[in-house]
Amino acid sequence: DIVERAPAKITAERSRHLGPNLSISYKKPLKMVRGAGQYLYTDTGEKYLDMVNNVCHIGHSHPRVVAAAARQAAELNTNTRYLHDNIVNYANELVATFPDPLSVCFFVNSGSEANDLALRLAQAYSGRREMLIVDHAYHGNLTSLIDLSPYKFNRKGGKGCPDHVKICPMPDGFRGPIRSDDPECGRKYADLAIDQLRAFEAEGRPPAAFIAESVLGCGGQIFLPDGYLKHIYAAVRASGGLCIADEVQVGFGRVGSHMWGFELQDVVPDIVTLGKPIGNGHPLGAVITTREVANAFYNGMEYFNTFGGNPVSCAIGREVLHVIRDERLQANARIVGDHMMARLREIAARNPLIGEVRGAGLFIGIELVHNLETKEPATEKAGQIANMMKDRNILISTDGPMDNVIKIKPPITFDLDDANTFLGNFEECLALVTP
Ligand code: PMP
Repeated sequence: DIVERAPAKITAERSRHLGPNLSISYKKPLKMVRGAGQYLYTDTGEKYLDMVNNVCHIGHSHPRVVAAAARQAAELNTNTRYLHDNIVNYANELVATFPDPLSVCFFVNSGSEANDLALRLAQAYSGRREMLIVDHAYHGNLTSLIDLSPYKFNRKGGKGCPDHVKICPMPDGFRGPIRSDDPECGRKYADLAIDQLRAFEAEGRPPAAFIAESVLGCGGQIFLPDGYLKHIYAAVRASGGLCIADEVQVGFGRVGSHMWGFELQDVVPDIVTLGKPIGNGHPLGAVITTREVANAFYNGMEYFNTFGGNPVSCAIGREVLHVIRDERLQANARIVGDHMMARLREIAARNPLIGEVRGAGLFIGIELVHNLETKEPATEKAGQIANMMKDRNILISTDGPMDNVIKIKPPITFDLDDANTFLGNFEECLALVTP
């Protein structure tokens, strides 16, 4: 029996039967009952513009993805121990979006599983365990990944940085020690990371790998300065380690100019991890690596993942790729993102509450500050604006170490009308919170 519950009843039953460390967005929670494109609909029939969900990448409940899932689920779902066309069709097409020598896929069920497998690959390849990470990163909910996530281990409930991990400072050209107007910004931040590499070497334990998001999401939408990854990758490889790009948030054309965020840095990682948008909401993840790394992992032990690479998941993943291509969604992300950035920069010029606007395609951050000189974070105002926008039926989130960055990452079907709706309302809300 399907019982329809009022939002308050669901909240009460959640506390009774679910673990208490789940969170709910907004003081007055929303009960969503339907999604289509970049819109969500509540139980009372209200329509919201979704600028938060980078998982339903090509639009909520995309009919082509729903049909592909239903078709394959009605026919067969098994595991990778039988031959099936879907897994090789999908692997061929997914790998074709990557530069050489990235040519081998492992299919898993989430971004966390992808990153955990990336760790195993790097450990097998190098015979080492130590890891270099970037400050404020989040790489997943598994035990191995909480260890690599200062976003968790250095915050409430965390146990601090584990011994096998060293943290490179975030290359934040707005707030960090080196500013983006320094032409050597990328190299100088890379040098700070390489200092951590050298510290590991001095202890006689060089790292297995360096892992970073291609754009720092939880770090507050920080775009890596030019040359940053190039310098770090060269040093890590020279030391015998591998370079991992976490594309869980930013991959699949979101940055507009490129399919993959690491391409903004003109590098080729040894391992790339995929999640969130890959299945448009279906639990799917992938690791893409080189034949050399994949072979080093093959020590005789089978890698089996019950659901990873099943025919239904592969049908879904392949359809997502086709929709991105057929609907020209990467170009849409670029065009609408460029419009957003141009208008946001105009708004920033009129509003001293905006410290910086940064973005590429439909991955944008607006950092709010009380004072342009001191850069004192305007955390409360960022939260107020998110709640005021919600009252105007527009969903946005906040993030960053001080939670003062308004984060924009809608489904990449987000169009120019949506952009203008957001921009008009955002500027009004800014005025309302400005003294
Ligand atoms: N890496 C990054 C950068 C992420 O943002 C996330 C999820 N927020 C993950 C990994 C983990 O993905 P999942 O929640 O699918 O396990």
